[in-house]
Amino acid sequence: VLAEATPDDRAFDAALRPRTLEELVGQERVREQLSLVLEAAQQRGRTPDHVLLSGPPGLGKTTIAMIIAHQLGAHLRLTSGPAIQHAGDLAAILSGVDEGDVLFIDEIHRMSRPAEELLYMAMEDFRVDVVVGKGPGATAIPLEIPPFTVVGATTRAGLLPGPLRDRFGFTAQLDYYEAAELQRIVERSARLLDLTISDDGAREIASRSRGTPRIANRLLRRVRDYAQVRGDGTVGHPEARKALALYEVDDLGLDRLDRAVLQALCGSFGGGPVGISTLAVAVGEERETVEELAEPFLVRLGFLARTPRGRIATPAAWRHLGLAAPADPAQ
Ligand code: ADP
Repeated sequence: VLAEATPDDRAFDAALRPRTLEELVGQERVREQLSLVLEAAQQRGRTPDHVLLSGPPGLGKTTIAMIIAHQLGAHLRLTSGPAIQHAGDLAAILSGVDEGDVLFIDEIHRMSRPAEELLYMAMEDFRVDVVVGKGPGATAIPLEIPPFTVVGATTRAGLLPGPLRDRFGFTAQLDYYEAAELQRIVERSARLLDLTISDDGAREIASRSRGTPRIANRLLRRVRDYAQVRGDGTVGHPEARKALALYEVDDLGLDRLDRAVLQALCGSFGGGPVGISTLAVAVGEERETVEELAEPFLVRLGFLARTPRGRIATPAAWRHLGLAAPADPAQ
């Protein structure tokens, strides 16, 4: 699935990651707001407010967390919601936090409830009570934590319980990138990779990257392979087009999963309405994968609509698949 990071990508991601706010492409408002938050805290000699970053995968949340730590000259600790299933897991992490550290919690909405409660106490008071033992013999051991900054990342801020969300003094919602910004990202990455790419080659990759820097970088990598093996190593418009066709990324940036979802919706379910779980089973994927990776993009393109009775395909979706929409399309 395109927007999810594979281990292979991680090394590549790391090499292309902007290290400062100035290097970050786009997201002007977030950049300006964040630089104020950080500078003000530094002037006061305090740790900055906790920061919550929300938005779809691959838009730069981890990158921004790293930039925050870098800008503050702070040590970055990385963890994720799924790794924190017990309050004790979090207590162990918190007991290792040093003054001024930045604690990055990816997928923060996937922490367990007891861990969430411990976290918001820690964020508020910089101390928590760690409960040891069970039943009448249980004792609470107070744990003091030096001032630190939590940077939380989530695909949807709405999934976080209110009390936890309220502990974040600064919240930024990252949005999909414009084609021109993605083109700048592709050109920047090509420079870092010592790759010669034409304007229209970079534009072609950008236009099929579905608003997502991680996908832009990944497509660039595929195109680079193609140019190296089948051409002279430089990327022009024809190389970009041929490579992307080979990897089944269509003109609009739809990948195999996106098309499978549309095909199931139109083919097996007559255009819907159909429930998201049924649709996920039909394409052999987890519901979450379809919901978080394919659906937002299909909705954004106006191909799929969510209705109270289920998902439906729009006439544009039928057209994109080259099929005739039924005479009486699902309402
Ligand atoms: P997330 O944490 O939101 O899933 P990442 O921060 O891991 O996303 O970003 C994925 C990759 O996309 C990074 O390696 C980085 O190279 C690139 N990237 C993301 N945002 C930007 C940006 N604003 N400018 C340049 N590159 C970016």
